[in-house]
Amino acid sequence: MAVPRPLSEATTLRVGGIPGAWHIASDAQAALDALLVIRHAALTPFVLGGGSNCVVSDNPSTLGVLQLAAGEPEILSSSLGAVAVQVPAGMPWDAFVDWAVARSFQGIECLAGIPGQVGATPIQNVGAYGQEVAAVIKAVMAIDTQTDALVELCASDCDFAYRHSRFNSADTGRFMITDVHFRLHQNGEPCLAYPEVRRAALDAGACELWHVADLVRAIRRRKGMVVSPDDPDSRSAGSFFRNPIVDAVVADRIVSEFPDETVPRWDVSATGTSVKLSAAWLMERSGLYRGMELANGVRLSNKHVLALVTEDGASASGVVDAAIKVQCAVESRFGIGLVPEPVWVGFGNDAMLPAGAVRLEAH
Ligand SMILES: Cc1cc2nc3c(=O)[nH]c(=O)nc-3n(C[C@H](O)[C@H](O)[C@H](O)COP(=O)(O)OP(=O)(O)OC[C@H]3O[C@@H](n4cnc5c(N)ncnc54)[C@H](O)[C@@H]3O)c2cc1C
Repeated sequence: MAVPRPLSEATTLRVGGIPGAWHIASDAQAALDALLVIRHAALTPFVLGGGSNCVVSDNPSTLGVLQLAAGEPEILSSSLGAVAVQVPAGMPWDAFVDWAVARSFQGIECLAGIPGQVGATPIQNVGAYGQEVAAVIKAVMAIDTQTDALVELCASDCDFAYRHSRFNSADTGRFMITDVHFRLHQNGEPCLAYPEVRRAALDAGACELWHVADLVRAIRRRKGMVVSPDDPDSRSAGSFFRNPIVDAVVADRIVSEFPDETVPRWDVSATGTSVKLSAAWLMERSGLYRGMELANGVRLSNKHVLALVTEDGASASGVVDAAIKVQCAVESRFGIGLVPEPVWVGFGNDAMLPAGAVRLEAH
């Protein structure tokens, strides 16, 4: 067991107090052993990855933190242009992207620069610039904390959707992911579905996967979306709210209110009845702006209105207040409830959290 330290040192928002215990596990068996110790101490197990998609409370003394050690990808098989790769949960995600593009394995090049670990990517089905991890996940290996058995969940068992899976909905906190199996494509063309990436690739004459991954990182850096000690706007959890999916009638009403603007909207159902809107656009039309101070030490990013950013002296309760303020502004202007992306960890059951917050519960 490691000596517990403040979780603010291990989260990208840099908030979070000292947990009840802190374990580091080298493999699945060690993770299971640590789980039993955490349970014995009547603590709630919390698997901590890179800390880039969670808001940890100021007093998480009921938590037993469990971190999984990093490792290397292993190629399991390759045939007919597809390659199956098993990756340990503790490997940093961006290092895996580098590993893949260096071998001309296609499928995750536009997910370059996303912080955190491989094992967390299925949790909210990470996505960016035209790709989602669900498209290349074949299976997830995990310890099911309801039975303490090692299980293999195939992709169709994971209930993947936009920023959604069973791991951040019905089964939050139930599975400790130990490895992820990916199916990548050998020598595939880079994905240029996203206009900004396509333009950058055309300008740079980029047709190699590694080059596109680097262009994506450059685009992300300009938006404060690559964690760096040199960029105060990257002290965040990335995009803090999901893009809301609304009824087409609601989207049409908003479009008609803004006849001089192209309102960003994407049809997400075959019948055209559900539409995804841009949370950032809604926020900016609700009186919120880049750099706006929302609570003590918590503001919106200067580079991207969708990111909540902390400064020295910020607290988790300040993040809660800031997120609620954003929700109220958008709700009162448009009648739309924005739902936060991060998982809320170590808050008591009676703590007031933003509407729709996914809480880590004891299992
Ligand atoms: C600057 C910045 C940019 C970002 N950009 C994007 C983006 O473009 N697209 C996107 O989708 N996300 C983005 N994110 C969010 C975040 O990086 C991803 O969600 C990432 O996958 C979180 O990984 P993590 O290891 O940091 O998870 P953590 O924050 O450590 O954990 C998040 C949740 O996952 C659980 N978890 C972590 N590892 C495991 C495991 N092995 N088993 C079971 N549960 C686990 C935790 O318990 C917690 O509930 C961004 C974040 C930042 C700070």
